[in-house]
Order: sequence, then structure tokens, then C-alpha cells
Amino acid sequence: MSQELKSIISSKNCQAVCVGPWAEIAQRVYGQVKGKAFLKEALGTTGSEVSVGALPANTALPFFHAHKQNEEVYVVLKGSGKMQVDEDVFDLQEGTVVRVSPQGSRGIISGPQGLTYLCMQAKAGSLEEWTGDDAILTKTLAKW
Ligand code: ZN
Repeated sequence: MSQELKSIISSKNCQAVCVGPWAEIAQRVYGQVKGKAFLKEALGTTGSEVSVGALPANTALPFFHAHKQNEEVYVVLKGSGKMQVDEDVFDLQEGTVVRVSPQGSRGIISGPQGLTYLCMQAKAGSLEEWTGDDAILTKTLAKW
């Protein structure tokens, strides 16, 4: 049964959803895919795709893939495993952050505790300003 993403807020300048506890992601079905929630539609993102994925213990993604134009950043949230990009294999653990170029052929396998990760996609070479160069301080008064 497909799991609905719980909307927290949807306003002119902000959308938020809750995917639930990390421990439950691997068993949930979001849309057509078990254990993977793609968030672009729910969040209304316009420059990136974000997904949260989870693999049960000792389970590989069913395919290797590359992208036409998007680089990806994977952030390991929980568990461990291994990632292969082209011919290179390396360990994943909580806190590991990996960038993969669009052309990199990537695959993931989880370790004995499973693996929960966040993946962000954005067009390679599209970022023109970041951090302090793009930030604008505003005079909004805190309401909490
Ligand atoms: Zn991908």
C-alpha cells in the first residue's frame, strides 16, 4: 500500500513534508517504489530533486545508473554499506557524503544494519553563487 507523504506546510514560499522515522523508510512504499521517496513534487523544488531511500540489510539497488545532466550528492543518514562508482568501490557509513558526476555509473549495497540515505540531484555546473554570496539577511521577526 502506497504511503502518503505527510504535508507539514504548503505556503507561497515554503513546502515541507515528513517521510517518517528513518527506521521505517525501507518498508514503506511511496508511489510505485518501495523504500524510496522522491520529494520533488511534494516539495515543489525547481532546481533540484531530493529523495530519501533505504535498503534492508545486505540488499543492493537492482541496477547501476548514470544521469544525462544531473550530478548527485548522497548523504548516509543511518547504517552502512558500499558504493561503486565506475570501477571504484568504497565504504559508506553514517555521515558519509558522496558526489557523483552525471556520467559516473553508480550502485549501492547495504551492510548488515541496512542503509538509509538522502540523495540530491542538481544540474551539473548550474550553481553560480552559494553560501554567503547568495544569502540575503532579512528583517523578519521571529514568532516562536
Ligand atoms: Zn540517480
